[in-house]
Amino acid sequence: METKILLDESRLPGRWYNVVPDLPAPPPPPLHPATREPVGPDDLAPLFPAELIAQEASTDRHVDIPEEVREVYRLWRPTPLIRARRLERALDTPARIYVKYEGVSPVGSHKPNTAVPQAYYNARAGVRRLTTETGAGQWGSALAFACAQFGLDLDVWMVRASYDQKPYRRSMMELYGARVHASPSTATASGSGILAEHPDSPGSLGIAISEAVEVAAASDDTRYALGSVLNHVLLHQTVIGEEALEQLALVDETPDVIVGCTGGGSNFAGLFFPFLREKLAGRMDPVIRAVEPAACPTFTRGRYAYDFGDTAGFTPLLKMHTLGHEFVPDPIHAGGLRYHGMAPLLSHMYELGLFDAVAKPQRECFEAGVLFARTEGIVPAPEPTHALAAAVEEARNATSEKVILTALCGHGHLDMAAYDRYLSGEMRDLDLSVDRIEASLSRLP
Ligand SMILES: *Cc1c(COP(=O)(O)O)cnc(C)c1O
Repeated sequence: METKILLDESRLPGRWYNVVPDLPAPPPPPLHPATREPVGPDDLAPLFPAELIAQEASTDRHVDIPEEVREVYRLWRPTPLIRARRLERALDTPARIYVKYEGVSPVGSHKPNTAVPQAYYNARAGVRRLTTETGAGQWGSALAFACAQFGLDLDVWMVRASYDQKPYRRSMMELYGARVHASPSTATASGSGILAEHPDSPGSLGIAISEAVEVAAASDDTRYALGSVLNHVLLHQTVIGEEALEQLALVDETPDVIVGCTGGGSNFAGLFFPFLREKLAGRMDPVIRAVEPAACPTFTRGRYAYDFGDTAGFTPLLKMHTLGHEFVPDPIHAGGLRYHGMAPLLSHMYELGLFDAVAKPQRECFEAGVLFARTEGIVPAPEPTHALAAAVEEARNATSEKVILTALCGHGHLDMAAYDRYLSGEMRDLDLSVDRIEASLSRLP
């Protein structure tokens, strides 16, 4: 009767899994905004090192994980798979709930799975400094930790709403040696432009990305790193699913349902891609479901169209589910899910019908988060409470045995202000009007 299913360090995955060659159709390429032609490696060279550009377009089924990266991964990987028996008992369900817990990483989330290789490939290419954005502060913390491992400087643009709500995430980034700017900032032309129009802007990931890209593009020894959305990020995150696949096999289980929360889609993709490989090969048949916030419903209410990844329009055009690059989501507490777009690879797969999606309002999610904390003890970050709410719903509706798998992609130790608001009854569900979405989508490029 295992509660915690552990893998020995020797079982740490040796390669990442690339889902692209296993898909029935290739994803549409990113386009150059001026020429509308597919972008080539040269277009991306000011932003990313060659190895990551190659991974972005790779059609190899597997990519070997460099030993230097595996050495850092070993600080916390393999991560535990937890059978949530106490939650099952509280729900009085015949379902069995398995939770892949990524909160055991040094910074408390899945983000170092890609931060470490990104810092490594940049350092190996002779880059001196990275720039990035951060929403809830998880990605900034992860990259700050990774840059400290490989001797890189780091500048982080942190979304203003989170900068004010989460001062300890900022402290953590500074502790690892990064410089942190509240975004929009006066340090960039794109940030200054927004502030001139909206002095009280709460910021958004789209704005923060513009600032970080602007600074990286202007400097020879500086490159940019993105914490989600891109193919190479999703690739790196597949260590989550590869481990979970082995762990479930150890207890002779196959999942019937896989749920994950989606901001840009990286923890969800990392969890389910290896299981989808098995599904496409006819070895299992799980239902796969993305869970997004009702206040930023990219899959369920966005449009599948070419759009910019950032607010200012510096990035290539990406074919993705989008609410429009100028869309500023309301400041919900799951800051990591406040992104106007979705990973292009996941968007393509959603169109192919390889998984479905639901949107959940934040109070239902926090209710599930509190129930999880009171039963299993772990305080979830606000983002994965979306996945937990969907898992709880599945378990409550189960009338017979069923195996539910989800990723608890981060702990919520630095999110107590959000839990305070929920527990005091002050938290509101935020309505998003059709008009606001339509207005934003009318400005697609
Ligand atoms: C960043 C983050 C997310 C959202 O990003 P994805 O790429 O969708 O995974 C979700 N949860 C946590 C804990 C995060 O740090």
